This record gives sequence, structure tokens and C-alpha cells, in this order.
Amino acid sequence: MALDPSRTVAELEELRELTGDPQGAQRVAWTETWEKARDFLRSKAEGLGAEEEVDEAGNQWFTLAGDSERALLLGGHMDSVPNGGWLDGCLNVLAGLEVMRRIASEGKPRVTVRLVSWADEEGARFGRSLFGSSAAAGSMRDQEELRALTDRDGVALPQALAEHGVELDKALEARSQLEHAAAYLELHIEQGPVLESLDLPLGVVLGTFGVERSRFTWRGQAAHAGSTPMDKRRDALAGAAKLALYIREIAAQVGGGAVCTSGGVVTRPGIVTSVVETAEQLLDQRHLDADSLARMLAMARDAADRFAAEENIEVEWERIWSIEPILFDDTLIGFADEAVREVAGTSHRLPSGPLHDAAEVARAGIPTVMLFVQSLRGLSHTSLEDTKRKHLEQSVEALDKLASKTLAWLA
Ligand SMILES: [Zn+2]
Repeated sequence: MALDPSRTVAELEELRELTGDPQGAQRVAWTETWEKARDFLRSKAEGLGAEEEVDEAGNQWFTLAGDSERALLLGGHMDSVPNGGWLDGCLNVLAGLEVMRRIASEGKPRVTVRLVSWADEEGARFGRSLFGSSAAAGSMRDQEELRALTDRDGVALPQALAEHGVELDKALEARSQLEHAAAYLELHIEQGPVLESLDLPLGVVLGTFGVERSRFTWRGQAAHAGSTPMDKRRDALAGAAKLALYIREIAAQVGGGAVCTSGGVVTRPGIVTSVVETAEQLLDQRHLDADSLARMLAMARDAADRFAAEENIEVEWERIWSIEPILFDDTLIGFADEAVREVAGTSHRLPSGPLHDAAEVARAGIPTVMLFVQSLRGLSHTSLEDTKRKHLEQSVEALDKLASKTLAWLA
């Protein structure tokens, strides 16, 4: 059976029909609609000769046994955010399925080929992303915190998981799934504007950004808005405001794709008649290079101390979360470059701002690479998410070529 990229597009449309509504995709992990998407995948994989298995973390696997146990993995995620797009996550799963059909039709492969739909990549319901892939990679270390998470309706995470056959305490047993993994390939929509601005359909991902997430708590003095002269104020918001603008400087100075976002400031007392006493400010900083990322954080902290002194207020810093940059495999990046060139004529290498399951797999020491396909207007996590049909088909072709090159390398 020859590769048929248009079938992937048709299946994506079918999935959209089945699991979306006018507001967008509704395949939130650990819900009925997500199960519907998993059933859909199961039905599409029928007749492939691949064995299905759902592991201890809820990841859904389809294994096409080869001459060797060493395995090439193709993966993505069927779950979406609420009111999400029709391509995020499921493009990689359905494109991977099409590639598997092509491989299966050519007889028993030299190495085993496995398709995985990772459970709860988005973390949309409980706020914890990359659930299934971090369990399989063995990097999940937050079981205690996971146990305490609840959704908006007060349902605890362990209970929601149990309803879908997953015991939180056993999730890490999914590690055995990566035992024979020799390479991991993931195709994803870019979810950003870079490829569109370069007028290129496809790109090769170098790795995922390291992330530093901080909370700066600024403390001044609440004071009456009418009776306190401007030069007598200790305004906590002034420090947060200065930092919110200074992070542009940090990103520009460090360069190399650096991004900084002050995504939230909560002020107290938060009334129109008072100077702000405390301002809690969130900062997210990302870079592909670990030293650059460390420098970005140091610059933000130094600046915060300086602004606190200038404003006669205090500031405390706290790390909320961090992850180191994860670099993909050089050999696979080379194959991906060739595959993209063969399909689209030109290739472009770029980092990934968002985290992906591929980062977890790479962290587990498995050679990994990702392909990006252009996103129209750079939009994702919205029903407006879209990619040109031609580009979708090219992306399936590129994944297929990349899979062939990788299989030849592994055999
Ligand atoms: Zn995704």
C-alpha cells in the first residue's frame, strides 16, 4: 500500500467531526470525548497487524513486530485543550498511522515499529502536562503533588485516572515501554509564526526550550490614594511594572531566540483608592541554550533587586518550575533535514518554544527528532488553528521519508 497523505487529512476531518463542536476540539484527557478519540484510533488501526496495548500511564500503543525488538517509535497525543484546534497532537498520531500502514504493507520490518498516543499531553484538566510521556520516560517525580490535584469540579486526579483504568501509583511502570526504543519521531504543527513568515511548509526542530518559571513578590506599603504624595509612596506595582518592561531588554540582549513573558500580576489590596502593597508577578523565561537561560534569570533577579531599591520596596524571588533545554539527536536532525528538503525543496532548523512529549522521550536518552509543519497565523489552542491542506500532506510525506531513513539506520 502506497503512502496516502490525503487519507490522513480525511481522518483528521473525521476526528474533528466526531470529537469537536463549533467551539473547537474537545478531546480533553480523562473524559468521554477523549475515549471516543482513542476508540477512533483503535478502529483506524484495525487490520494493520499491529498489537494494541494501553500501558500503566494510559498511553495507547500499537506495535508492528519486526525482525528485531529494537523499536522505532512514532508518537503524538489525541488529547486537546478545551475548545482546541483540530491538528494539535492528533496530526502526529494519524500521520504516524499512515506511515505504519505503508511500512506494514511492505512485509515484516527489520526493526519493530510502534505508534504511541501519549496520555494527557496538554494537562488541560489538572494543570499537569506530559503525564503519559513523563511516566514512560521515568521523569515523573511529582506523584505526591499529582495526588492532590483536582479539576474545576473538585474531582481528584487519581479518581479521574481510575475511571479510565489508570492507577497513579503504577503509572511509572509504563517505563518498560521504552526499553527497546531506539529512536522517536514526532511531527507537530509549529503553533507559532516562524515557518509562515519564512514561507516554508516544514521545519526541523533542534530541541525544546529550557524554561525558568519564577514568582517575584513585591512588597510596599498600602496607602491612601488621595492623601499620600507621590514621593512618599512605596508602590509594589512600580517594581513589577519596571520588570515587566525590562524583560524585553533581557531577551534582546541575550538573543538566540530568547523569550520572556510576565504572564500575570496579582495586586493587593487591589482597590482603586490604595497604593499597591503587594504585587505577585509571574515570569516565564525560555531559551535553547542552558547558559543563556541561566543568564536571563540572573539578569531578571538583578534587575528586580535594583528596581526594589529604586522604589523603596522589597522583592522576593521564588522558582515555581524549571526544565533544562532538551536537544534532539544530531543524526536524526540530519535525516529530518534531508526528508524536508526532498519534500519541500528547502529546510529550516528551529527550536520549539512549547514543550512536547518528544522532550520527555529525549530526556530518557532515546535519540529523538521532531518535524514542524507551518501553522497559519501561528495560531494554536484555539478553534482557529489551521494548516494548509497541501502542507499537511507534505508533512505526512516528510514523516514517512524520515521514518524510512531512520529504519535504514537502525536496521
Ligand atoms: Zn501538541
